[in-house]
Amino acid sequence: MSSESQTFTEKYDLLGCIQCGRCTGGCPVTVRADLNVRQFVNNAYDEDKLEELSRLAEIWDCTACHTCAVRCPKGLKPLEVLIGLRTIIVESGKVEPTVRDALQSVLLEGNPWEKSRAMRTDWMEGLDVKIAEPGEPVENLFFVCCTIAYDPRVQAVARNIVRLLNKAGVDFAFLPEEESCCGSEVFTIGEEGLFEMLVEDNTEYLNEFKAERIVTLSPHCFTTYKTHYPDLKNPVIHYTQLLDELLEEGKLVWKGELQKKIVFHDPCYLGKQGGIYDEPRRLLKNIPGVELLEFDRSRERSLCCEGGGGKMWVESTSTKERLADVRIRDAKELDADIVAAACPFCVLTLEDAMKNLGYEEEMRVAEIMELLGEFVEA
Ligand code: SF4
Ligand code: SF4
Repeated sequence: MSSESQTFTEKYDLLGCIQCGRCTGGCPVTVRADLNVRQFVNNAYDEDKLEELSRLAEIWDCTACHTCAVRCPKGLKPLEVLIGLRTIIVESGKVEPTVRDALQSVLLEGNPWEKSRAMRTDWMEGLDVKIAEPGEPVENLFFVCCTIAYDPRVQAVARNIVRLLNKAGVDFAFLPEEESCCGSEVFTIGEEGLFEMLVEDNTEYLNEFKAERIVTLSPHCFTTYKTHYPDLKNPVIHYTQLLDELLEEGKLVWKGELQKKIVFHDPCYLGKQGGIYDEPRRLLKNIPGVELLEFDRSRERSLCCEGGGGKMWVESTSTKERLADVRIRDAKELDADIVAAACPFCVLTLEDAMKNLGYEEEMRVAEIMELLGEFVEA
């Protein structure tokens, strides 16, 4: 049955739900906002209620962390019911101006940050970067991500990886400024039409390159390509997997020591959704001097930072303590010097929380690649 002729109930397999409540029980947002995803799955069965449900502000509290999908014993994706409801609102045009502007920017400039496409490769200035050309063979084709390309706070992720790979003698190339948003946030915001267009255009564009694999810097791009791009001909990996290979081959040479206690925050898109837990830990643990700590809530149980699911453009309905603040307080209790993440959204939200709590003098939030850039010979 084509997706157009499917009812809402069929599309999200609502009849498969046994109302066990494991989704709501695991949802990290439930403790701070009015979101009860089990109830939405139950109520969305009545097609006459869909429009009314779509107007409830709490559907925008979901961060698309996927905990509910991981916990559902029937293999459902309860969060996608919320995304389906968002689609109803997006199609009616009644979305926050911030959301509308982000979507329009993706359509016009290929990124949600309202930046010019012509500036997408500005971060490369002064670096020895090979630009990929269609048809020209390359081992590792890098997809940089809109946030890393444009946000000066996280551009070091891309800049450091270029230095490191050049030093390690790895064959790699980055896409030119024609690279467009993978659509991760477009999907979770519920703009179905735009997302389908991105999947089609990006698949056609990326398939022009003769790469052995595509390496993403952000776990959002990683999971989106793996989950929603069935016709992409190249395998997709996250950069921590590539660096873990280099570590194994003895190609990462450390300079100096980092006498710090580091706790790794599992990004939802890398861990729960991508299944990558060990590679980032191995990279951190190998930096001489590092003591690697673990959050109580780590790996599959990791607490979401609330950076995904379009939350960069939507205010929460709740004024209760943000999950990123909880995460930083947990790190403080562990006496961690550094909270490391492997995701630009996690870095931005956790760093904001760290500043909000006034811990800037005693703690640091860093992307793994920032740390490796400082401690790997390059
Ligand atoms: S976990 Fe799955 S089966 Fe249980 S209530 Fe949620 S959606 Fe239904
Ligand atoms: S994706 Fe995460 S935030 Fe959204 S409903 Fe599921 S558990 Fe809750």
